[in-house]
Amino acid sequence: MASRSEISGWIVILITISAIVLFASFVAIEQGSHERAALKRVCIDNLPQIDGAKQQWASERKKVLGDKTTTADILPYLGRTVSTLPVCPARGIYELGVVGENPKCSVPGHALPKSGE
Ligand SMILES: [Zn+2]
Repeated sequence: MASRSEISGWIVILITISAIVLFASFVAIEQGSHERAALKRVCIDNLPQIDGAKQQWASERKKVLGDKTTTADILPYLGRTVSTLPVCPARGIYELGVVGENPKCSVPGHALPKSGE
């Protein structure tokens, strides 16, 4: 039979192991949320470019609020030799929306702050 000190030795080891596991998972969760925040920032930085191209297209083509915008419409206004829209690093899909509406990403939380905020 195990002596009292052997048992308490095992308890200390078990507590130490669970503390390490707990700490490691906390670090992993923290890292994950930092990465998500970084991806979100890159994504949100893309939105004003898309919005700017959209507004320029709308004003040059005399579009009115509510007119539908397509990728092909705004690509020439993105100011680079691009053949595609900027992409969300978190694999979200950009929805251009209609004229007068902010473009948005399909990933929740990847959005321009509403005007006035
Ligand atoms: Zn996004």
